[in-house]
Amino acid sequence: MSDHRRITGRLVIATHNPGKLAEMRELLAPYGVEAVSAAELGLAEPIETGTTFQANARIKAMAAAQATKLPAFADDSGLAVDALDGQPGIYSARWAGEDKNFLAAMSQIERLLQERGAKEPAQRKAHFVSALCVAWPDGHLEEVEARVDGTLTWPPRGTAGFGYDPAFLPDGHGRTFGEMTSIEKHGLPPHGMGLSHRAKAFVKLAEMCLK
Ligand code: IMP
Repeated sequence: MSDHRRITGRLVIATHNPGKLAEMRELLAPYGVEAVSAAELGLAEPIETGTTFQANARIKAMAAAQATKLPAFADDSGLAVDALDGQPGIYSARWAGEDKNFLAAMSQIERLLQERGAKEPAQRKAHFVSALCVAWPDGHLEEVEARVDGTLTWPPRGTAGFGYDPAFLPDGHGRTFGEMTSIEKHGLPPHGMGLSHRAKAFVKLAEMCLK
């Protein structure tokens, strides 16, 4: 028998990022899980002091579970560029600055790639990572991590999605995440292919804790 704990009833989604909140709600809806967000509950955002995606997801989920006495679900994610030794990585949000200017963040990555002479697609490989953590008020944790591989393209294309989506061409596809519908990017079978890092991580978590 699996020793994973099942998620039932109400769940707090420990994010203040509206783009991620919308995606997580869509992913949880088919399982009949009622999701309230940390922002809706007025919870403070903890400081992300971890050095890995998983550590930061854990900090956010544990803080929300302690504050609400409900199971809490958190994600930490980001873009890792091979030629930049994995940057921006856990600092993906911070590279966009206070005003969340992702065009500036994508431009900075492009500048660094140009400085390194990374013109060919093979030199421009990157992946998105999603670490998910569910924390219960009694301290129990369930954790998963997944990635989607792709290539950075320039100039950015498409207005869908958020963050670095317009610059990211997932392997095996001719359109960027910014040019895909939300179903194409993170829809799960039978409606989608579970393409994004977050969708893949979610499928793993659902297998463990939601089925
Ligand atoms: P977090 O809120 O600390 O997890 O920051 C994650 C950051 O990584 C986001 O603000 C985006 O910049 C970037 N990111 C994560 N997932 C995606 C995605 O699916 N598309 C585009 N950018 C993403």
